[in-house]
Amino acid sequence: MTDNATLNARREAAIPRGVATATQIFADRAENAELWDAEGRRYVDFAGGIAVVNTGHRHPTVMAKVNAQLERFTHTAYQVVPYESYVELAERLNNLAPGETPKKTLFVTTGAEAVENAVKIARAHTGRPAVIAFNGAFHGRTMMTMGLTGKVQPYKQGFGPMPADIYHLPFPMAAHDVTVDDALRALENLFKADLEPARVAAMIIEPVQGEGGFYIAPFAFLQRLREICDAHGILLIADEVQTGFARTGRMFAIEHAGVEPDLITVAKSLAGGFPLAGVIGKADIMDAPAPGGLGGTYGGSPIGCAAALGVLDVIAEENLCQRSEDLGQRIITRLRSFAARDDMPAIGDVRGLGAMVAFELLTSPDGAPDPEATKALCAKALENGLVLLSCGVYGNTIRILVPLTAADAIVDEGLAMIEKSLCDLVSAKAAA
Ligand code: PMP
Repeated sequence: MTDNATLNARREAAIPRGVATATQIFADRAENAELWDAEGRRYVDFAGGIAVVNTGHRHPTVMAKVNAQLERFTHTAYQVVPYESYVELAERLNNLAPGETPKKTLFVTTGAEAVENAVKIARAHTGRPAVIAFNGAFHGRTMMTMGLTGKVQPYKQGFGPMPADIYHLPFPMAAHDVTVDDALRALENLFKADLEPARVAAMIIEPVQGEGGFYIAPFAFLQRLREICDAHGILLIADEVQTGFARTGRMFAIEHAGVEPDLITVAKSLAGGFPLAGVIGKADIMDAPAPGGLGGTYGGSPIGCAAALGVLDVIAEENLCQRSEDLGQRIITRLRSFAARDDMPAIGDVRGLGAMVAFELLTSPDGAPDPEATKALCAKALENGLVLLSCGVYGNTIRILVPLTAADAIVDEGLAMIEKSLCDLVSAKAAA
């Protein structure tokens, strides 16, 4: 068996450093919420492939659908010879998407591609160029989505010029003193100073920011954005790439706010580990681009569609929206108990929507964000057997994306590893 150190040396020689990895272990196999590395060591997986395996690694229902598809055909190119699973998946997503307006769905391969296509569709429908996004947003690494992303380091550094006609507004985050009024005032000011609303095709927002730090957009803010968009003929795009598919306790996070977006971008947990993404939208808007304007060689791969049909079955059969709510409560309660202790680094805000849960590390109880401690915690957690991810514009947020199918015992085991790792950080500092 090749060990992690040898594989890392080969990685460094063969792969550009731009593709950074959060851990130095190499995967050998994974089941539900556990994975094993190249040296046979077991880990609890609180990263879930960055929100991709809400239904767990290799869920039997998903694997059965994929295996059946592998026996029939793996690729025809949907735009050459279409297949029923693409249509069936679109029908199911159209029915699941929030709101009464009839929907249509386009499939692509990655989250960034979904966002790119949402912008294309919005421009084709409105005949307008501009797009408004938010500080701290993450929408992808392609040119347009990099422009929409609201964080320079590491996503934009050295990659300019950015695409034109993108404007960023503050994202309300109570933990860092940005209010809903601050964000709305900035929008008013943007319309006065830079951009007439009639030039705006769309506004794009993550109902809960993912890479940005698991900040939950206040529901009243999302409702107000809907009103402002309606008043000016601007389309509202909900980027649900990270928040979708029961992660927040609803199929789509925007449902919490009772808002019907014009377009929804989806990817990640849609297909439980197979590369599939999509844009779900109001039918008349989705039909704006002319035939041939949308698509791609691999878009809506039959393997991805088969997997996604399995994922939707699992979410319904295992009641994963309710499970997400329960799991979120379980995790938040435990994390809040850590926040009250003095044998751990200072924990600031603990927040979550369903099982999309995060906490912040501070230099002291009233102190500044502590990205160093956050990095150290992820490293210590890995040593203790837990794959744990950070995020956030301040680099001080730990995010939990454990599969919703994980048993309570595994979740508790992972939380105990966080507890031990937090205590280890304090004892290591005392010993230094
Ligand atoms: N939008 C959001 C909200 C995301 O979290 C991500 C990925 N982290 C993307 C878009 C881009 O998805 P992908 O990496 O599949 O291109």
